[in-house]
Amino acid sequence: MSNSYVTSNARPTARWKRFLKSNLLTFLTVLGVFGGTTLGLVLKGQSEPWTQREVMYIQYPGDLFLRMLKCLIVPLLVSSITSAIGSLDLSMSKKIAFRAIIYYFITTVCAVVLGIILVSTIRPGSGKEMGSMKGKATTRQVLTADTLLDLIRNLFPPNIIQATMFQFRTLLVSPGNATDVPLQQYSIKSEFTEGTNVLGLVMFSIVLGACIGKMREAGRPLQAVFESLSEAMMIITSWVIWISPIGVFFLVAAKLLEMASFTEVLGQLGWYFITVMLGLVLHGFGTISVIFFIATRKISFPYIAQMSQVLATAFGTGSSSATMPITIRCLDNMGIDPRVTRFVIPVGATINMDGTALYEAVAALFIAQLRQIPLSFGHIVAVSVTATAASIGAAGIPQAGLITMVMVLDTVGLPAEDVTIIIAVDWLLDRFRTTINVMCDALGTILVNALSKNDLSSVPIEMRTY
Ligand code: ASP
Repeated sequence: MSNSYVTSNARPTARWKRFLKSNLLTFLTVLGVFGGTTLGLVLKGQSEPWTQREVMYIQYPGDLFLRMLKCLIVPLLVSSITSAIGSLDLSMSKKIAFRAIIYYFITTVCAVVLGIILVSTIRPGSGKEMGSMKGKATTRQVLTADTLLDLIRNLFPPNIIQATMFQFRTLLVSPGNATDVPLQQYSIKSEFTEGTNVLGLVMFSIVLGACIGKMREAGRPLQAVFESLSEAMMIITSWVIWISPIGVFFLVAAKLLEMASFTEVLGQLGWYFITVMLGLVLHGFGTISVIFFIATRKISFPYIAQMSQVLATAFGTGSSSATMPITIRCLDNMGIDPRVTRFVIPVGATINMDGTALYEAVAALFIAQLRQIPLSFGHIVAVSVTATAASIGAAGIPQAGLITMVMVLDTVGLPAEDVTIIIAVDWLLDRFRTTINVMCDALGTILVNALSKNDLSSVPIEMRTY
């Protein structure tokens, strides 16, 4: 009797403890986002504006967290992709890669089409004055062709060590002091700029992994090195992750202090902001959920709920790449095959950015509406193609989409400087689109895992998860 009394009370308590233990970090990270927002808004309400130095101090703990995550990106990306592909034979890798790429493609196209439909129906840029909207930004002159060619050039880095630090880009230099010369007549300059060439690293890792898989016994030592490196990076991630609530808290608070008066900005860009947000929500919770259901016969929402920590980190950092270690860890905890996760997440974080694609299309057409440029069907198709390319080319770092936007603007004949029109709200939209980018990658991994279950069950898993 007494025994049953004890168990009936102890069980729920034990279950509660277990629940708290496994969800504590998630809870704290989400709390970090809300706490940071509250602190930022309260501090902003002070009469004195915050100086750049003060904001820097507040951001400092968040900055340290971001640096720790960023430090993991290159070794984790290379070792995960190489070991995941190396652990499978070529035909199996091809199947998984094929499914992932089809998923990336379909979802990105859906995002762009949804963006175009929304911006054409809501018409956020119609009947507005452009005058005071421009902010400050430095833009560079390029042609769409240059950006597309650079994208492909970066896929094939001439030096893999250099690719960990620099990217290639084409620059157009005006001849003499002439200002009204068409861009086509500018002289072409090549340069390497700071920033990891993630696309090149992904490509190299895929090829190396495929080669190791093909080498069988001879490739085993190399495979073991990459597997072990990937495991080590995941263990470090499991340490760094404990700082995420604090990191996210200070990153969000500092960002809010930095921003201009939000109500004033929203007055001008409010409908544009609403259009992008509506698109992101409809895509993330509508389109993707339908695709997910069709492919897996499962509802996506319980999975999304289990990703709260990942989503909070994506929102706090504004970077898919920096969130990558945490995304991988979360999917490992959810029991997803590590061979799928370690391929689909790093590649997805680099090329699959649905939120960014949607935003690129909406923003370009919004600016065209402001400038009262009539667009033909051909223009709209060109915008969809370039918005897709721009999302692939955008790095997984804060506000990278704003940079590749230049290419989309160019297709509708708009000057690069026009990105400054939307700059005031971009930092906030960036956080939301990064959250959707990361969520779509994670759901895609679960989907590819479900579709590949039968194929993968014939190959034993050698990878460990942490
Ligand atoms: N910040 C985004 C990401 O990392 C890219 C962008 O849209 O600017 O996913």
